Parts: sequence; C-alpha cells; structure tokens
Amino acid sequence: MNKIGGKQPQLFVLLQRMKRIAILGAGASGLFAAAQLSKHSDLSVVVFEKSKNIAAKLRASGGGRANILNEHIGPECYNHPEFMSDFLRQTDFQTLYSEFENMGLMMRSDEEHRVYPATFFSTTVVDVLLKNLSKNVQIITDYEVKSLTREKQQWQINDFPTLFDQVLLMVGSPAGIARQSQNFASFLNPLDIHFHPFKPSLVGFKLIQYPKYLHGCRAKAEVSLYQQNRIIFQERGEVTFKEEGISGIVVMNASAHYNRLKSPVNCTLSLNFLYDEDLDISDYLRKYQDFSGILHPKLCKLYAQSPFDPRALQWRIEGTYDLPAAQVAHGGIDVGEVDEFLQLKRYPHLYVGGELLDIDGVCGGYNLFFAFASAYWIVKNLFRED
Ligand SMILES: Cc1cc2nc3c(=O)[nH]c(=O)nc-3n(C[C@H](O)[C@H](O)[C@H](O)COP(=O)(O)OP(=O)(O)OC[C@H]3O[C@@H](n4cnc5c(N)ncnc54)[C@H](O)[C@@H]3O)c2cc1C
Repeated sequence: MNKIGGKQPQLFVLLQRMKRIAILGAGASGLFAAAQLSKHSDLSVVVFEKSKNIAAKLRASGGGRANILNEHIGPECYNHPEFMSDFLRQTDFQTLYSEFENMGLMMRSDEEHRVYPATFFSTTVVDVLLKNLSKNVQIITDYEVKSLTREKQQWQINDFPTLFDQVLLMVGSPAGIARQSQNFASFLNPLDIHFHPFKPSLVGFKLIQYPKYLHGCRAKAEVSLYQQNRIIFQERGEVTFKEEGISGIVVMNASAHYNRLKSPVNCTLSLNFLYDEDLDISDYLRKYQDFSGILHPKLCKLYAQSPFDPRALQWRIEGTYDLPAAQVAHGGIDVGEVDEFLQLKRYPHLYVGGELLDIDGVCGGYNLFFAFASAYWIVKNLFRED
C-alpha cells in the first residue's frame, strides 16, 4: 500500500477534484466560455483551435468594429423564435452587458441600438477576453479536432494525452471562410445527432437577368422579398450592387428570411427607391424626360434599356452568394438535440454553443450575442447539482 504523508494528501484531494474541460474552437463563444470558466480555480481548461490565429471571425466582425450586442434583443430576430424566447428568459442583453462590464470592457451604442466596444475596434474585445483568462486555461492553436470519442464517462480528443470530463462544442460554422473544407466539424459525424447542412445566410442575392454593369452602384431603397405574391420581408436601407446581384445590410436581412422558407422557389426582390417621396412619377417624366435627377446614373442606364417603376424595380432570385461571402450560416445541430442547458440530450457532458447550433439572427449584433450568451449559459450551468 502506498503511504501518503506530509502535504501529499492535500495535493491528492486537489487532483481528485480538478475537472478537465475541453473547449473546441477559440472563437467568440469559445473564448467567452474560457473567460467564464476562469472564475473557477478548481478546473483545468484546454481550448483547441484549428487555425494559427484565434478569434478571426470576431476580429472581422462589423467591418473590424465588432457589433457585439444589441439593446433590443428579441426572439423574432432569430430563425427559431420559440427556442430563443425560452433562452432569452434566462440570458438577456443586460446579463451579457454586465458580464462584459465586469470583464473591463467599455461599450457604446449607436442610434440603432447596436452595441460596440467603446474603442470601435474588435481586437479590444479579444484582448479583454484574453485578459480574463486564468492560468488554468491553455489555448492550443494550429490543432484541428478530428475525432471525439467517448471513453467510459470521459471524452478523448484526437490522441490528446488526457481525457476530458466535459466538452464544449464551439467550432462555429463555415460562413465567411474563404477556403471551404468538405470536412467542417466532421468529428461530429460518428455521433447520432440531427444536423442541418450549413447554408449561407446574411449574404447577398444572385439575381436573374441582372446586368453586370450595375456593379459599384449604391442606393437607398425599401427592399421587399416576395414568394409569388406573398410578402415575406420588407425593410429600408442601403443596397450595394455587385457583379451578379445585390447586397447590403437590408438585403442580408432579407436572405435570413429567405433561408427560413421551407422551399425558397419563385422568390422576387422588389426595390422602391422613392419610399419617402410623395412624387408623381408620370408628371416628373413629362417634365424632365428621364430619372437622372433622382436615380444613380447606372440605374438610369438600366431604365433607358428597359423602363421600370422606380417604386418597384423587380428581379427574380436565382439564389444567394456562397458561404465564403456569408456572415453566418443557417443550419447546424438541430435545437431539438439540446436540453435547456444546451447539453446534447443523447451525449451527457457535451455542450453546444454559438453558430454550431442551428440558431442564426439578422444583422445588428444578434449573432455575436448568441455566441457569448450561449457560452455564458453553458458555463453557468456546467456544475449544477441536478
Ligand atoms: C465578415 C463578418 C462580419 C460579421 N459581423 C458581425 C457583427 O458585426 N455582429 C454579429 O453579431 N455577428 C457578426 N458576424 C457573425 C459572428 O462573427 C459569428 O456569428 C460568431 O463569430 C460565431 O461565433 P462562434 O464562436 O460560434 O464561431 P467562431 O467565432 O467562428 O469560432 C469558431 C472557432 O472554431 C475553430 N474551429 C473550427 N473547426 C475546428 C476544429 N475542427 N478544431 C478546432 N477548432 C476549430 C475556428 O477556426 C474558429 O476559430 C460576422 C461574421 C463575418 C464573417
């Protein structure tokens, strides 16, 4: 029998209690979870990140400014309002705002209630998260998780030398990534879970019979999305014309609603450039012969070739731009697979946060909110006594 003497029993007890947590992905949700776990001194946390750099998407967010939250978060901003309605009852805007304040992040909001770091610089958010990590957190970069297997009550990641008691799945989605891989999150394939293939969301539309020369034009418009004659979505904002179609925040929001259609066929986009003008169009044309005083020159060229109503310029939708051009992805692990603590029902001790779960929101800080909020909620309940 080994004799344990002196200070060793204390060390033995400490080692016994030290739980090992793995976080897969050092992005928005993974780093937020790591910062929250840092409040617990009796844990050992390893974050596995496949890229050389951490938090690439968070840094790119909001054009480098990172619109991290929105003061008006509601379930209707997401693809699964019922799920989000329950979720937001536990973790709302105020909870997240306070957490960031407590971490030392100063924030500012704009007139549209979008919240940014006060520096308007996304790297500040990353720096603050890193500053809040304890020495018990180890981040391993350039390490792609390729396999996740259960060993009795614990989890093995690739051939990593130690097993983990709890694993937080936070690998995000393939949206916004230039080099697409067929194997995204393929370590999940052996698990028996309902997974919706990723589709681009918050992305521009490719349009049918769209003239390339419109590329570079920008215009304010009221954008309406129709399926046959049914209106699906309407919002005002700036539209940017690209080579094969259109984009801009308002169009990206339309794409989120397009993706929610069971069968997105026979869809049309209609642009109203005079939504705030009480103008008699025929009268104007009689007086000035063309729209050069009202519309962008490229739109005037289009009008000269095939006249249209400036209150209803319509195109049939061919589809959206692909995943590399998208800000988020529609799809991921079905929300029915997780319990109220975002733990996989069929795989205890595996939790899902961020974009990997089939939750996507419109533009305005809703997606980063969910990445942070899901991480917060998972960690808060990780050590609950059932
Ligand atoms: C250009 C752009 C602008 C955006 N702007 C905004 C905005 O202003 N506001 C907003 O709310 N949202 C914005 N978004 C969306 C937002 O960035 C994402 O929704 C959010 O980052 C998702 O967080 P996540 O933690 O789920 O995933 P990510 O932040 O993508 O993190 C996942 C991490 O996991 C790593 N990973 C993937 N697979 C593996 C693997 N097998 N092994 C190990 N690591 C792996 C990835 O490399 C990545 O670092 C924007 C997105 C883009 C692309």
